[in-house]
Amino acid sequence: MRLIFLGPPGAGKGTQAKRLTEKYGIPQLSTGDMLRAAVSAGTEIGKRAKAVMDAGGLVSDDIVNQIVAERIEEADCGKGFILDGYPRTVPQAMALSEAMKAKNLTLDAVIELKVDEEALVRRIESRVAETIAAGGTVRSDDNPEAFRKRLAEYRAKTAPLSAYYEEQGELVALDGMADVDAVTNAIIGVLEKSAA
Ligand code: AMP
Repeated sequence: MRLIFLGPPGAGKGTQAKRLTEKYGIPQLSTGDMLRAAVSAGTEIGKRAKAVMDAGGLVSDDIVNQIVAERIEEADCGKGFILDGYPRTVPQAMALSEAMKAKNLTLDAVIELKVDEEALVRRIESRVAETIAAGGTVRSDDNPEAFRKRLAEYRAKTAPLSAYYEEQGELVALDGMADVDAVTNAIIGVLEKSAA
């Protein structure tokens, strides 16, 4: 099973992707996590990406396209994968389509989590509070200023992907404001229907 999650930052893509990973035994491929790992490891890509990420901007298409094209070649992606946070621009969607075509792979679903943007800011604040309470480290882009920039980047560059995938008949929009279990169940319903 190969699927993409779309939705603004804080919509719950990562949370839902993690749940499906357990249910279907396929990996969650979060470009944000991969880039953060590159930043922590101090790799060349990490050094190039850090400032852009901290400011809430988008890392260049070339960098993320290469990361994903290489990642989906790995053995654990044999049964499928869940893309979380990629593609984020139409050129990325086109690059993904090319990379998948070259491997004779197709997408099973593109799921968009629709959310109220006002509520997102509150979600980010509670994510920060929960992380701190659990003794974790808060992401360097989890602050109101970077969050606003991430939301603006989403509206300008990522939101057009909904129309892109809708035209291809692959988009399913779900209510991301419902409670976490209800969203998971709705996603599973979509996936079971597409597998039937
Ligand atoms: P995320 O964890 O998905 O919220 O991503 C955190 C940050 O990583 C984003 O704000 C971007 O700076 C960068 N990033 C993650 N995925 C992508 C992508 N597909 N294209 C460009 N930048 C990305």
